[in-house]
Amino acid sequence: QAKDSGRGTRLFYAPGMEGQPALLLRQEHLLREAVEQQSFELHYQPQVEVASGRLRGLEALVRWQHPEQGLVGPDAFIGLAESRGLITHIGRWVLRRACRQMRTWHDAGLPRVPVAVNLSAIEFRQRDVVGDIAQVLRESGLAPQFLEVEITESVLMHDVEGTRATLAALQTLGVAVTVDDFGTGYSSLAYLKRYPLDKIKVDRSFVMDTPNDAGDVAIVTAVVQLARGLQLRSVAEGVETDEQMALLRRLGCDLAQGFGVSRPLPAVQIQAWMQSLPAS
Ligand code: C2E
Ligand code: MG
Ligand code: MG
Ligand code: MG
Repeated sequence: QAKDSGRGTRLFYAPGMEGQPALLLRQEHLLREAVEQQSFELHYQPQVEVASGRLRGLEALVRWQHPEQGLVGPDAFIGLAESRGLITHIGRWVLRRACRQMRTWHDAGLPRVPVAVNLSAIEFRQRDVVGDIAQVLRESGLAPQFLEVEITESVLMHDVEGTRATLAALQTLGVAVTVDDFGTGYSSLAYLKRYPLDKIKVDRSFVMDTPNDAGDVAIVTAVVQLARGLQLRSVAEGVETDEQMALLRRLGCDLAQGFGVSRPLPAVQIQAWMQSLPAS
């Protein structure tokens, strides 16, 4: 449901909250407080090269330190944040935190890989979003080639001229752009060649039942080939098993991300994970 049109319309109530405006209002109040107090946390999930297993990047994924519910995942609050005008504040925090963290890790001698940050459609449409990103990069001292942004297909469908301008400005700045959750939206393939993009991320729902489901294998194969033909890099998300990884290797998929490599982990733990990697 919510997935179909991308992050912009993700349902904003936690399960059980349907038709309970009081609970929703309270959640909104708590989220506003969280924005003021910066009660969020980033977890990081590695992205590896399929052919070599080498670390090639990290995706930053936000969590809310909820005063009653513990650590809450983005699917339970991003929609609320979007509909209540809070997403740009949260997004700003995420961007700053991710860039600073990456700079700190690079300075500490950890692998010099980029960090990917998810942008909701609302953030992408923000006035001077590229200027904001450039400013965060300057402040954090992270070079633009170490930042990537992930957007959904729905972003590509609307306001073609504005989208092209923003993507071109990101390219000029040196920030790479990934189309996230590819295949779940309604965008036409024509958009892929029309815009300056860097990666296509095959949605987890297509990877999940490979290699057993022949239809899903066909879809993943097609997306990997499409990416190659357009000179974009392909990324598979939600890779959990060795069999899935073997399939991706056969297909020539460039990058993989998923629990099979590592779950998203808090900074301290992903740092330990990176330190445990064989020296390159
Ligand atoms: P996404 O960008 O597609 O991120 C991948 C999601 O899949 C993450 O869920 C991750 O934990 C999960 N995942 C990764 N590998 C596996 C796997 O092997 N198996 C399974 N079952 N799941 C896997 P998470 O962290 O709950 O994030 C959900 C979505 O929330 C993200 O999907 C992204 O669209 C959005 N999101 C996350 N952080 C941010 C943010 O800072 N800003 C915005 N606007 N959206 C965010
Ligand atoms: Mg993503
Ligand atoms: Mg994704
Ligand atoms: Mg996804």
